Amino acid sequence: MSNISLFQRKYQELKNCLIKIQALEAAASVLNWDQTTYMPTGGTYARGRQIATLKEFAHEELTDQSIGQLLEDLRPYEQSLPYGSTEASLIRVTRRDYERATRVPPKFMAKFCQHQAVSYEAWVKAKSLKDFSIVRPYLEKTLELSRELASFFPYKHIADPLIDLVDEGMTVSILRPLFSKLRQKLRPIVEAITSVPSIDDSCLHQYYPKEQQLQFGCNVIERIGFDFQRGRIDVTPHPFTSSFSIGDVRITTRVYEDNLTESLFSTIHEGGHALYEQGIGLELEGTLLAGGTSSGIHESQSRLWENIVGRSRGFWECFYPQLQGIFLKQLSSVPVSQFYQAINKVVKSPIRTDADEVTYNLHIMIRFDLELAMLEGKLAVKDLPEAWNERYKRDLGIVPANDSQGVMQDVHWYGEMIGGMFQGYTLGNLIAAQIYQGAVKHNPEITVAIEQGNFTLLHKWLKQNIHEHGRKYTANELINRVTGKPLSIDPFIDYIQDKYSNMYDLKGPIPA
Ligand code: ZN
Repeated sequence: MSNISLFQRKYQELKNCLIKIQALEAAASVLNWDQTTYMPTGGTYARGRQIATLKEFAHEELTDQSIGQLLEDLRPYEQSLPYGSTEASLIRVTRRDYERATRVPPKFMAKFCQHQAVSYEAWVKAKSLKDFSIVRPYLEKTLELSRELASFFPYKHIADPLIDLVDEGMTVSILRPLFSKLRQKLRPIVEAITSVPSIDDSCLHQYYPKEQQLQFGCNVIERIGFDFQRGRIDVTPHPFTSSFSIGDVRITTRVYEDNLTESLFSTIHEGGHALYEQGIGLELEGTLLAGGTSSGIHESQSRLWENIVGRSRGFWECFYPQLQGIFLKQLSSVPVSQFYQAINKVVKSPIRTDADEVTYNLHIMIRFDLELAMLEGKLAVKDLPEAWNERYKRDLGIVPANDSQGVMQDVHWYGEMIGGMFQGYTLGNLIAAQIYQGAVKHNPEITVAIEQGNFTLLHKWLKQNIHEHGRKYTANELINRVTGKPLSIDPFIDYIQDKYSNMYDLKGPIPA
């Protein structure tokens, strides 16, 4: 047998193993989606065990020595192929996942998974009762398990391995200075905007029936490219996106009948995540390459559609007449200019998911710093609510009314882990601005097309340059390929300064 056909046989063998692993992972995701959407709470304990069992099987398969052997045998084949080819990429990414997975004992993963399920349920209860003490022991256990997970890897900072799991290549030593520069640039912008009289957004807080809100949100994401033949939408307390295959990508949203923007923008946000998953090249289906490459890149796709497109003037020139038609009583006397200002109101608020795009990153950087402090052992879980409130007072000038609106507002620490949970959001905002700038540079008609209700041009460009590649390239490789430059805060700051100095009619440019 020739070398080539021997390699091809081994490659096929590897691919078959990975398809089996992906099937187990997808089954665990379906169980998780079901738990979060429709499962009665009585199923919690059993469901945790079921998901943990599937994850354990998947972990055992991935860490099997035969995979390690195949990856070794395929090294010369990988080197003979172009870097971006599906074959070389699959071998490279599998090796990375294999090396990562073999460091973590399967029993540990199962234990952590089971804990996450019960901790999530405790958080739901604690949040509704506004009582942090209910979830505190679970969070203490989560911190212990997060530290244990990090300990299986070599690291300079204990958060590095946890960050690397979702944002490969990012470390505390890169992120701390990047975020500090961003905070320095953002603070004077936020101060300048919030020192002028605030915008009246009462038009958004009338009675908006749930069904009509959901219907409009569905229309919008269908227009920007969400394929309902390959996806669906449901309602949950905390919106998320789940992908079981390229042909089955599901999003959720939440609806408040006294708030028009909550459901609309979380639907567009999750829709942006879903366009990424639905846009992955079909040849990658069922393999480890069929997914988003990092949390930052994933978030860049949701934020690009939610904010840069969804909160732009051009977007509403297109959609506002339709929205007015649905909510005639509420919006017929509200001109598009007023609506545009209302959806872009900048305000120092306690809730991250309600935050405007200017203050949003300040919320993230608070969480990032608190995560690091807990992992470093400098902040105990029992002192977390107080530390949270202190930082909110310092950075945003407000103190949350209770812990449900404060430290318990986000699911991440309670349903997942402590470490690596939040930097992806700010990276996403930065990457979104940089990618959009790149897209418009290559294709200047994109902005005019959006005003005319044509989203195909932008969607196609994102699909070709980002979505189709799945996990072939790392975040840094993609950003360099697409924009010709490494990650920078400049496009985001330029975008914010341009948009808001226009809107707030401030004298001269906002100080940088
Ligand atoms: Zn998101």
